[in-house]
Amino acid sequence: MGRIFLQGVGVDDLNFEQALDFAKCGQVVTVNPEMISYAGTNPEFAKILREAQLVIPDGIGVELGLKILGHNVKRIAGIEFARELLDRCKTAALVGGAPGVVDKIPGSNIICRHDGYFTDAAEIIEELKQKQPELLLVALGSPKQEEFIYSLKQILPNTLMVGVGGSFDVWAGNVKRAPVFMQKLCLEWLWRTAREPKRLKRIFPALPLFLLKVIVERG
Ligand code: UDP
Repeated sequence: MGRIFLQGVGVDDLNFEQALDFAKCGQVVTVNPEMISYAGTNPEFAKILREAQLVIPDGIGVELGLKILGHNVKRIAGIEFARELLDRCKTAALVGGAPGVVDKIPGSNIICRHDGYFTDAAEIIEELKQKQPELLLVALGSPKQEEFIYSLKQILPNTLMVGVGGSFDVWAGNVKRAPVFMQKLCLEWLWRTAREPKRLKRIFPALPLFLLKVIVERG
């Protein structure tokens, strides 16, 4: 498997099926331009990404960045990747989202559920340690979810752990994903921004700046 460096962050060159086959245990990061930019200013976060077992390109921003560098790597929607993992695994734990959200997600293989607004993680960590789920999905937003997963790598050595952002809200039926035609036109970001205008602050100027830096990187 090849790891392509984009602004100093390694992104794995795998398609959806290959990534599923490869994902066995450890940390999976579904990386976006915001996270890559953050890694550039935060060495601790950069280390988390560097030590991740799998870094998949989530979204059009990273796909475009890789294209600028001459690599044709297709994006993998983190939400679809995580859903497939959840459907395939025997035991899963879900941590994150507002109170009640995880309880609305169906799945007889889900053996542990916690919302993401805890002050003390000790009890949750103890339960995870006891249950040793095959899969742990964490929805705390970035970088919180990546930091939380990183802190669990020794405690859950055989668990596959993925940060899933807003996926629980979609699975619980609280938030609608963009219509398929918008997903196909790479306009999911526009859909999410229209529904949640404060996201605009996260995209601009971060995304154009990110692409500009990649152009400079290419030289
Ligand atoms: N969240 C949480 N605890 C926190 C902060 C956020 O559980 O302290 C949840 C929030 O409820 C939402 C998710 O984390 O479900 C973050 O979603 P966001 O849309 O920010 O993530 P993205 O998909 O953009 O990475």
